[in-house]
Amino acid sequence: MQALNTRDVSQTIPLAEALFSGTAPNGGLWVPETFPQFSLLRSKSAKPRFLEIGPEILRLFLPEAPKEWLVELFDRIYPTRFDHPEITPLLEAGAPNRTFFLELFHGPTLAFKDVALTLLPHLMRYALQKSGKTGRLLVLTATSGDTGKAGLSAFRMIPDTQIFVLYPEGGISSIQREMMLEEKAPNTRVFSLKGDFDDAQHLVKSLMADKVWREDLHQRGIGLSTANSINLGRILIQVIYYFSSYLELVDRRCLQPGDPVNYCVPTGNFGNILAGYYASRMGLPVGRLICASNQNRILSDFFHTGVYDLAAHRPVLKTSSPSMDILISSNLERWIFEKLDREGRKTAELMAALTQSGRFSITLPAENAENPFFSATCDDPQCLETIGATFRKETLLIDPHTAVAVNALSQYRKATGDDTLCVVHSTASPFKFPEAMIRALEQGRKSYDMQSYDSISGNEDMRLDLLCEISGRKLPEAIKRLRQETGREPESGYPEEITRRIRRYAFERW
Ligand SMILES: *Cc1c(COP(=O)(O)O)cnc(C)c1O
Repeated sequence: MQALNTRDVSQTIPLAEALFSGTAPNGGLWVPETFPQFSLLRSKSAKPRFLEIGPEILRLFLPEAPKEWLVELFDRIYPTRFDHPEITPLLEAGAPNRTFFLELFHGPTLAFKDVALTLLPHLMRYALQKSGKTGRLLVLTATSGDTGKAGLSAFRMIPDTQIFVLYPEGGISSIQREMMLEEKAPNTRVFSLKGDFDDAQHLVKSLMADKVWREDLHQRGIGLSTANSINLGRILIQVIYYFSSYLELVDRRCLQPGDPVNYCVPTGNFGNILAGYYASRMGLPVGRLICASNQNRILSDFFHTGVYDLAAHRPVLKTSSPSMDILISSNLERWIFEKLDREGRKTAELMAALTQSGRFSITLPAENAENPFFSATCDDPQCLETIGATFRKETLLIDPHTAVAVNALSQYRKATGDDTLCVVHSTASPFKFPEAMIRALEQGRKSYDMQSYDSISGNEDMRLDLLCEISGRKLPEAIKRLRQETGREPESGYPEEITRRIRRYAFERW
């Protein structure tokens, strides 16, 4: 199968190469040339559905990948790196309200990015070897908090790779920061950027688009890629759990094959929800895709008006759901490309308008099969309120990102009266965000001595203990480890400085 460039469809590369290629040279994104169909009519499986269908879904896009190798890879890496036998368990909410939580955070870094990033380095290396192109890979990654650690954890010690991660200084939770700085493998580097996530992502994209530098790297046998969701590999792996959760619902007789399901996804860079759209194009009976935004509501406004306007939303606001504090939502380009009937020239024009004037608009198709998206916004007070209410009503502890989704789902149900069964993506462990969690849970526990909370609000260890106590949950192993480690210092600087360093470091340490 080939991959097409969203900004010039005459440019194609083998899809396998897109897995290690980052963006296209003109800044476009790679997309699959077609959407192969995946049949839902299947017999019972002895394995978790995720492990059973994962290799099959990937082979629809990479038919050249040996089946046995992929099956063996899934069976080996997911059970060893995930702490739940189902890999991506599906929980039914306590009250019978046709809501399920797909827990995507059982991997090594406690966020959904692990699902794709655990596998991606292996696919990249396979594709590189197949193409016979270059032996070494430099992976540049901007992070709004979770991709960084998941990328570091996935690429650590992988031969012939280096990963450089950039996070926005002050724009992530302190546990997210500690988790990244805990990583000391020699093929990893962590940069703290004076700027927001959009600046970090822009830096990565600019380096990718720098033909001269890329050529220099190429001369020395170094390829350039990314672990961000602009990498098509991330999206394709994420398609798997849309299908596996659906099959799981059929197995539990909550659905007949063919019944529609809604999915509600806390959204930042539009990567996870785009995978749901791709799944629908591959035959998954998706009803609505509910795109949940935090206060950085640019996507939500876009889905109501068709106008994407940076000036109206800047600056990026810091919220309790930092991994969604994004305004330039890169993967929207892939959906727009589909909506423009795959016209690369028109897509390129819109993206150029966004770069030049900070704005573009399209005529949105009516909400139907053409446009499955519904979008709603949840601000910080609503988010904390939702965490508290979900805990009290359902004894379910959800993190602030997931809470944004739960709130958006209730807005959707109120607005439309549609109570189709819905799978909410639970994207991170609550223990990554102890401060917000405690604030949320305290609101519902008036009897608790607020003074004692205030007096320890500066100390993360005590906050984590308190969260365990209030919630009655155990501290995840990954966080326990963190408590014992002392991390390294990040390299801090403004974008120009960091860019200079990355250019230099790229040639070192191989
Ligand atoms: C990255 C992230 C999101 C947003 O996912 P996108 O694919 O960028 O839309 C939501 N929640 C958490 C916890 C994340 O880490």
